[in-house]
Amino acid sequence: MGGDGSAADLVFVNGAVYTVDAARSWAQAVAVRGGRIAAVGPDAAIRPSIGAHTDVIDLAGRMLVPGFQDAHVHPVYAGIDMLQCDLHDLVTKEDYLRAIGEYAEANPDAPWILGGGWSMEVFPRGCPAKEDLDAVVPDRPVFLPNRDGHSAWVNSKALELAGTTATTPDPADGRIERGQDGEPFGTMHEGAQRFMTDLIAPSTADELYRGLLKGQEYLHALGITGWQDAIVQGPGDTYGDSLATYLAAAEKGELTARVVGALWWDRLRGLEQIDELVALRERGTAGRFAATSVKIMQDGVCENFTGAVLEPYLDAYGAPTENRGISFVDPEVLNEAVARLDALGFQVHFHALAERAVREALDAVEAARRANGMTDTRPHLAHIQVVHPDDLPRFRRLGAVANAQPLWAAHESQMDDLTIPFLGDPRWTWQYPFGSLVRHGATLAMGSDWSVSSPNPLEEIHVAVNRVMPPDYPYDADRTKVFLPDERLDLPTAIAGFTMGSAYVNHLERETGSIEVGKRADLAVLDRNLFAHPAEEIAAARCVTTFVEGEPVFTASDA
Ligand SMILES: [Zn+2]
Repeated sequence: MGGDGSAADLVFVNGAVYTVDAARSWAQAVAVRGGRIAAVGPDAAIRPSIGAHTDVIDLAGRMLVPGFQDAHVHPVYAGIDMLQCDLHDLVTKEDYLRAIGEYAEANPDAPWILGGGWSMEVFPRGCPAKEDLDAVVPDRPVFLPNRDGHSAWVNSKALELAGTTATTPDPADGRIERGQDGEPFGTMHEGAQRFMTDLIAPSTADELYRGLLKGQEYLHALGITGWQDAIVQGPGDTYGDSLATYLAAAEKGELTARVVGALWWDRLRGLEQIDELVALRERGTAGRFAATSVKIMQDGVCENFTGAVLEPYLDAYGAPTENRGISFVDPEVLNEAVARLDALGFQVHFHALAERAVREALDAVEAARRANGMTDTRPHLAHIQVVHPDDLPRFRRLGAVANAQPLWAAHESQMDDLTIPFLGDPRWTWQYPFGSLVRHGATLAMGSDWSVSSPNPLEEIHVAVNRVMPPDYPYDADRTKVFLPDERLDLPTAIAGFTMGSAYVNHLERETGSIEVGKRADLAVLDRNLFAHPAEEIAAARCVTTFVEGEPVFTASDA
């Protein structure tokens, strides 16, 4: 309860207000003044703050939650994808080829056909072939990353321009998929994508800016009011200067979300880049944006066997191979880099997907703690698909946040056909151990990795709670089996992951993440109280209105 008696700017009444405060308490009504929460309580306590100029929103029993925050997302590139050849919502090879052909026809002057978002499960072994693309685009190069960005589908023209042939060796951090004849097959994994990306002009400042605004609009429509951008680059980098994009949007007042940017660690270089990161950080704070994190990608993904594992992957017959995946950064360099970044006050945001990468990232945090003591940098490990049981208690002990992408924790064909058989027993049961991490006291943040998968927090929370794909999600999934049921989270824990947990990672938990007096009025109205419906229906809920500092940034057309 609070408020000094003067009229509020905005009041919500008659609702199911889930505050996500420490006691997980409920209220009916909220008053907002000057962009901040002025009072929280029962209707009777809040109604007196309604004045002649107060906007009053009757929630009519709907749910008010703190604005969701996405701890690992790529809204600028995802927004650009939405503006290019976007395959995310399609489900068959035929659909993909039709969309690609139509896009090429509609964009006759585009030197490259770009975009992406295909799904590995659509193709045998997860690898699409160049011939299919050649049939729809024979004369111009095509480069289309899949939805996780770890592999790209290319046509013969792209291979020809890149000079990639049967005799081209694989780069150290990637692999050219090859046919029986040794010729490139049409799928380029990880660093092998550079053969093409080196030839493609980075997105222009204008494309990046339009991408950011498109991405922001989409995220606001899902109730998201803040995020951590998991790859922010400076001038001259592969994907274009998205740091400048955020700064421009912040300075123009068009950045309505609160964003922490994770500056990209160039794994082809070493410690000498730290000075440049410091300079980028100095340039990189404006309005609601701060570039205070550094993204280190330590491994790839399991589906193409570039995720770093402790014991080798199995082959299709269950026999061990020689392949233990890739550690992109040498562990000794990683320890040194993380200790130095931590000493400089940088947060490190790891891509740590398979169990060796998770261990190497935790080892690096441990090295930093040893060197610098327990700083408040809040390092976090994103993806954490496979975690060795011995490493579960280390998250809490080291103050490393577990940054979960819960939508992937379900039986769908990428999991069942491309992952479980190759991880083998018991390792496949160590996947997405969110329940175990919570039982071991880890702080949990959550994110989507959009455009890899849907950024809808309600779909993510649905899977975190059920460990089953939402009914309408466009994945070929087995919805009859719960994926590792002991790892399910309860609804309060999952909501907290997408609110307070992610606010903590962004060092914003004093300002946002819960509905408490004094905090910013970053809020989302959902069309129903999630707690009053079965868990199997969480993903059916919709965001109705989104507010940042009490100002609406999204209103559903039927609201
Ligand atoms: Zn990512």
